[in-house]
Amino acid sequence: MISVNEARKILSANVERAEAVTINLQDSLGAVLAENVYAPVDVPFFNNSAMDGYAVDFVEHIKNWEVVKTIQAGDSTETILKQGQAARIFTGAKIPNGANTVIPQEMITVENQSISYDLDKIKKGDHVRLKGSQCQQGDLLLAKGIKLNAPMIGLLASVGLAEVSIYKIPSVTYIVTGNELKEAGTKLEAGEIYNSNGPMLKALLSEVGIHNTSALIAADDQHKLQQVINKALSEVDILILSGGISVGDYDFVKVCMENAGVQELFYKVKQRPGKPIFVGKKERKWIFALPGNPSSVLSCFKQYVKPCLEYLMGADDVWAQDKILPLATDFRKVMGLTFFVKAYENGSNVEILDGQQSFNLQAFGKANCFIELDENKEVIPSGTEVKIFNL
Ligand code: AMP
Ligand code: MG
Repeated sequence: MISVNEARKILSANVERAEAVTINLQDSLGAVLAENVYAPVDVPFFNNSAMDGYAVDFVEHIKNWEVVKTIQAGDSTETILKQGQAARIFTGAKIPNGANTVIPQEMITVENQSISYDLDKIKKGDHVRLKGSQCQQGDLLLAKGIKLNAPMIGLLASVGLAEVSIYKIPSVTYIVTGNELKEAGTKLEAGEIYNSNGPMLKALLSEVGIHNTSALIAADDQHKLQQVINKALSEVDILILSGGISVGDYDFVKVCMENAGVQELFYKVKQRPGKPIFVGKKERKWIFALPGNPSSVLSCFKQYVKPCLEYLMGADDVWAQDKILPLATDFRKVMGLTFFVKAYENGSNVEILDGQQSFNLQAFGKANCFIELDENKEVIPSGTEVKIFNL
């Protein structure tokens, strides 16, 4: 059986970047740019007013103007002001030719069509947003490799880009297996449990930036499971399964993988929870078969599935822990297995929570991370620095 670090090495040696594709800007949240983005236009596209007020040709000794025009945001008519003339103007509206300054309306006295200003607060050029002052055509806006967030999507929209080139976001199907599974919102009979892995996997995938997923439930029936797996494999880039990968008489996922022509990268890792994890590939498709216990699903997803997906989608440094902190109390574990333990970190140390059994989700009400505990240690004293993975 391989160690956690060997499993990581096998995955990082096999994972490749997805191809670049062009998608709608609106669908690009969480995606990684596959090329540099340059501004196609100057922004602002024209000189415009930063205030509601009056546009004038500002000269120190002139304090009175005649208002000859009103210019609203969106007006594109050409207006030319002569010396001594002003235009009533609003925020975002185009500065007329012949004007170079906007005096805010609060500083102006209006009398019929005349305005006057006798404060000492304005300089020539004030309250005008100059053409190209955000960026000029051809400027680098965002570099290849950046993960798009909401403000960046705003930035790209501001220069008029409707599409972006990103590393393809893989299509994912997840299959939860088990005769005992019932969906939340229905009534349980004795012998049944609620399917918590399905909703959790959907949310975990969303956190990685994969929103377009499909969910399936399969019974513990080899023939039916094979059909579900074969169909999913023919349709998607990534297949994730939960349950049915251990050594029970009704655990058929492994044999179905072999029958589907999936090439095994590894099966079973010296870890708790999540020992009987299987990872394989079929051509460029990835298959992650996770053990059924919810804590196993969570830690296997965070340890193995998420880094692979993020690398595929263009990210670097996907394998590292989020931080390192000292343990608050001693912990005893089994020698020879890496432990992934639900925990709460407060910035200065990390506390191991009660309820570590892999079926038990209660600690997720408080946990904000899990920690990785060394395979080759049995007793881990308080103060030991441990790797933290955020939840
Ligand atoms: P298995 O790996 O199929 O032997 O499942 C291990 C344990 O996880 C069993 O107690 C299952 O009932 C439970 N389990 C399997 N699938 C799910 C699921 N989708 N949601 C919650 N628990 C599950
Ligand atoms: Mg099962």
